[in-house]
Amino acid sequence: MAQDLFVASKGTLLAVDVGGTDIKSALLSADAAQPAELSVLTRLRRPTPRASDGESTAQGIVATVAQLVAELGAQSPTGGIDAVGVVVPGVVDAGIGVFSANLGWRDFPFATALGAAIDLPVVFGHDVGAGGLAEHRMGAARGARDVVVMPIGTGIAAALIMDGEPRTGGGYAGEIGHVDIGHHEPCGCGRTGCLEAIASTGAIARRYGNRVGRHIAGAAEVLAAAKGGDADAAQVWTDALDGLARGVAVLATLLGPERVVLGGGLAMAGAALTDPLAQRLDGLLTFQRRPQLRIAELGDEAGCLGAGFLALQRWTASLSEVAG
Ligand SMILES: [Zn+2]
Repeated sequence: MAQDLFVASKGTLLAVDVGGTDIKSALLSADAAQPAELSVLTRLRRPTPRASDGESTAQGIVATVAQLVAELGAQSPTGGIDAVGVVVPGVVDAGIGVFSANLGWRDFPFATALGAAIDLPVVFGHDVGAGGLAEHRMGAARGARDVVVMPIGTGIAAALIMDGEPRTGGGYAGEIGHVDIGHHEPCGCGRTGCLEAIASTGAIARRYGNRVGRHIAGAAEVLAAAKGGDADAAQVWTDALDGLARGVAVLATLLGPERVVLGGGLAMAGAALTDPLAQRLDGLLTFQRRPQLRIAELGDEAGCLGAGFLALQRWTASLSEVAG
């Protein structure tokens, strides 16, 4: 019996992270006896299929995942795929893509559609939540019981892990990017004052571009200009840091995390982000537990690895059903 379990403990998983522009996928090697480790065998990227409406876009994504299963399954060293994990952006709950502003769907039944298209165990989840899970298992959130993983990219959201467990609020929790931090600029959500409208990588590039009257490719260019003494860039960067400090202060006050892990494109700034942010946070917090600020360790692979951990949970659960 022990021998049987040993043989069954090696598996191959497929992880898929659906983004606004591309779909990242990875074939992963897993060991049921090592639930905090995954290793990447092969990576594959595909453009995200975009249709005229959100439902057709979602159906195109399901078809792309089925193609990836066929293509990468043929490369599996164990002769097949044991489970598939798929994560998407937006609001996600109980197998449903509730809403994605970027990709346009509302209430699309991903889990059911994926189950019909793929003859394997499939688990469906949220990209930010999955990224948080991956950072918690094998990245900068490792070992923390109460931790917030906050990707700062084209949007800003947070994965909440409290008492060692993810908290999702029916898919609506963690939307720190839409907390009103007290400015008057409009946000894509329809309100003004949102953190995301001033501190996302897109907002930083856009706000600097408006000041200097030309298109700016990304936030990295703004940070470099600020370091070089450009007053407009310095102001935009300061506004972003002030906003992020307020956002993290809200998290510290409401949730009391021991650590906040900063990810996404802006985390590439490293200490240029965490040092001034820590300084501002000191000025804002009084009695609250002061969270450690860390830069995410898994970069833009976090969502894909997180999808892999969802698949791993699914696969190990099916093994214990068999063993039981
Ligand atoms: Zn907003």
